[in-house]
Amino acid sequence: MLTVNAYAAPSSDAPLEPVRITRRDVGPKDVLIEIKYAGICHSDIHTVREEWGPIKHPLVVGHEIVGLVAEVGSEVTKHAVGDRVGVGCMVNSCRECENCLAGEEQYCLNGNVGTYGSVDRDGTITQGGYSTHVVVDEDFVLRVPESLDFAAAAPLLCAGITTYSPLRHWEAGPGKRVAVVGMGGLGHMAVKLAHAMGAEVTVLSRSLSKKDDGLRLGADHYFATEDAKTFEELKNSFDLIVNTVSAPIDLAAYLGLLRRNGTMVNVGAPAEPLPLTVFTLFRNRRSFAGSSIGGIRETQEMLDFCAEHGIIPDTELIDASYINEAWKRVLSSDVRYRFVIDAATFA
Ligand SMILES: [Zn+2]
Ligand SMILES: [Zn+2]
Repeated sequence: MLTVNAYAAPSSDAPLEPVRITRRDVGPKDVLIEIKYAGICHSDIHTVREEWGPIKHPLVVGHEIVGLVAEVGSEVTKHAVGDRVGVGCMVNSCRECENCLAGEEQYCLNGNVGTYGSVDRDGTITQGGYSTHVVVDEDFVLRVPESLDFAAAAPLLCAGITTYSPLRHWEAGPGKRVAVVGMGGLGHMAVKLAHAMGAEVTVLSRSLSKKDDGLRLGADHYFATEDAKTFEELKNSFDLIVNTVSAPIDLAAYLGLLRRNGTMVNVGAPAEPLPLTVFTLFRNRRSFAGSSIGGIRETQEMLDFCAEHGIIPDTELIDASYINEAWKRVLSSDVRYRFVIDAATFA
């Protein structure tokens, strides 16, 4: 086993602190990755604080990982030492259920193995990317194209695929009107991706404070949802609404913005149930849906798409010692638009 540096949460409410953790020996199908950068996702904070259920502390979080292959197992064929690679929200799945066989391991019927806080094949609890190294099965390791800025590429592994997958599934493209609710880590990626796919993009944000950014990132229109006139003006407008906000919203008001056959898809996860009146769906044959990250094949497609279109998250690079401060800023939406930790500082 390899002992490596990491930052762990000792409990649900204490600050993260430097620790030493072990990584398993490199098995025949494993890849040892020297982590270069790790993104900070809001899910990291929800998980540590047990807002999504109880977990086992101490825990190392982080599921937006990029790094270089440092060692490969004897049967590894997909990656070689020195390759630029990435790891997202999952590190294994059953590979046998109908969803795994369809390449949608994120929906594994037996539960995929999350990058952190999940029970791994060997019974240990997986530890995430706020660390210098990680060992992952080669099938769950992605190729990061050379043209992508390495540090800024990290958030693609969660924020990128989480927004790319629903945009592809509901066919965002030329002639389609797409609304993005929220201009945070997920929202800013949804704007860039939907614009690159050729859709007409509208941002629905609480205020107009990030309007300049939104238009720079590729939005065609930008509206404030704190202005009630917005919901009147945009009634029956959109083919697809991607809701990236995890706070409760007035669902009926947003569904009313869908045109015929339109879908509103949630990628943010509010803790409270959302009240839904089916009559709102009858009008315009509307749909309300959810979507969770993406499969491995689609995640690779997203990375290649971003390389081809020159899409990269807007990031702020930080040292490990700044993580606790960064978490506070994530919670107050004070980041444009994703923190990335320099793994060289996990000393
Ligand atoms: Zn995430
Ligand atoms: Zn499965």
